[in-house]
Amino acid sequence: MDSFYQAYFSQWQTATERPAVIDGLLPLFCRHLGASSCRLFVKKHAEWTHFTHCTPFHSLPISPRDEELEGWLCQPMPFHRQSAEKAVLWLPLQHQGTPIGLLALSYPAGSPCTDPDYLQPCILHLSAELKNDIAAEQPAGSGPVLLDMLQGLHDISFALWRAESIDDMLFHAVEQGKKVLKIDRIAIFLLTGHNRMKGTYGTDTEGNTVKEAYFESPIPPHWFIDHPQAQHGYLAIEENTSLYHDLQEIGFGWSAYTSLWDGDKRVGWIAYDNLINGRPLADYHPQLLKQFSFIVSQHLVRRQTEEHLSQLNGELEKRVTERTRELQQLNRQLEHTSRHDPLTQVPNRRVFDQTLPLEWRRAQRHQLPVSLLIIDVDHFKSFNDTYGHAMGDRCLTLIAQTLVSVERRAGALFARYGGEEFVILLPGQNAQAAIVAAENTLKAVRSLLIPVNDQEYCNVTVSVGISCMVPDKQSTADQLFNQADSALYKAKSLGRDAFFIYDD
Ligand code: GH3
Ligand code: MG
Ligand code: MG
Repeated sequence: MDSFYQAYFSQWQTATERPAVIDGLLPLFCRHLGASSCRLFVKKHAEWTHFTHCTPFHSLPISPRDEELEGWLCQPMPFHRQSAEKAVLWLPLQHQGTPIGLLALSYPAGSPCTDPDYLQPCILHLSAELKNDIAAEQPAGSGPVLLDMLQGLHDISFALWRAESIDDMLFHAVEQGKKVLKIDRIAIFLLTGHNRMKGTYGTDTEGNTVKEAYFESPIPPHWFIDHPQAQHGYLAIEENTSLYHDLQEIGFGWSAYTSLWDGDKRVGWIAYDNLINGRPLADYHPQLLKQFSFIVSQHLVRRQTEEHLSQLNGELEKRVTERTRELQQLNRQLEHTSRHDPLTQVPNRRVFDQTLPLEWRRAQRHQLPVSLLIIDVDHFKSFNDTYGHAMGDRCLTLIAQTLVSVERRAGALFARYGGEEFVILLPGQNAQAAIVAAENTLKAVRSLLIPVNDQEYCNVTVSVGISCMVPDKQSTADQLFNQADSALYKAKSLGRDAFFIYDD
């Protein structure tokens, strides 16, 4: 470092009172930079103060009016003013884009002015320091009141309690924390295990609360996290330090950190700084930040527990739903199996046995006819003997699948009764309708081609016994069945491939 900067920084380190620092600084500009005079104009709460130094053998510096200063203050870049006797280098002092003052270095006419780029670090540093002073000297009544802040902490806690989710809660913690605690920037980081961390919400360089969930990285070797004292209730503060956004160094000021705890386990931390307005920390801030951190920890842990529980509940519900669906599916299969004949897939005898008494009683109540057809395959024993039992099965299946659609009237039931016997129950149908059904049955089976090997087909026939009754007090459903059975016997004895209707 050259002698000017060495002298500049040692001035900050030796003098304690701010006016004394400035008194010591101005002569440095003259001594080290060859300026004949040096003036510092600072705007504090709409009022200008100025500090002067000039070497004894030169004329006094120019004295601009306030309006002139205001105009110059808005200049973003260093600029020169030239007159017959001297040249003046004006250096605007700004902090985060806010103009706060001007430094004017006068040089005798003809001698070179200092390069403004060389002075850049000094101007940045001086601006930040002055900004801190200005912020510290808040006009009476405008400073944050501790009592208001305590009330504010209570409001934050309430807002976090009402938040809809962890995400919403973390957003409010950052947003409300900045407002209530009068902190420029707050960011909350969570530890994700395996020495990794992730962002949640933070603050951009304009002071807006922004989602930083995209940020995920190994925990960098960090003085705060590794600090042996970083225990419960510990607040780490670093004054005059570099400030960062997205791991980029973007300014200078104080930064502070508090940890988030779940019992004795650190689950994250909160970072605070004064990047935007450069306000210094007030004496009550450490206590407030600790309280704030405690509140955020409590809400975070409660929310995480709740979310974990509700996730478990959700998984349990999902499993119960899946299991219920499987059971329902199984029940449907079971119901189908219990009501259908496994060979032919048409309704089985069980369905017929349940349906017949129901239809019988209904017919009894309404005094309506019920017809029953018993269908028996003719000479089926010899079919089996000729073509084999497997072919016999195939034949029965074909017959069943043909006959199941012969009767489509409402309430009609076709079922396999057993062996090579089928039934058609026709509730509400008289003998005439039953005869039509029997004729259709005979016709359908007759025209059925039964494959018996790769090339050959054969035909089979059936015989049908019909019974039709309008139930009275004495008659029974068994009677209906027995009558149809004896009609079938009659049809067989008449030569088969025929129907016979019972008539007493
Ligand atoms: P009919 O014309 O008098 O009814 O003569 P039939 O040979 O059909 O009568 P019978 O009662 O003597 O024989 C019935 C045959 O039906 C005997 C039995 O092997 C056969 N049968 C019964 N159920 C099945 C079955 O599920 N599959 C096969 N392949 N055959 C069956
Ligand atoms: Mg039989
Ligand atoms: Mg038979």
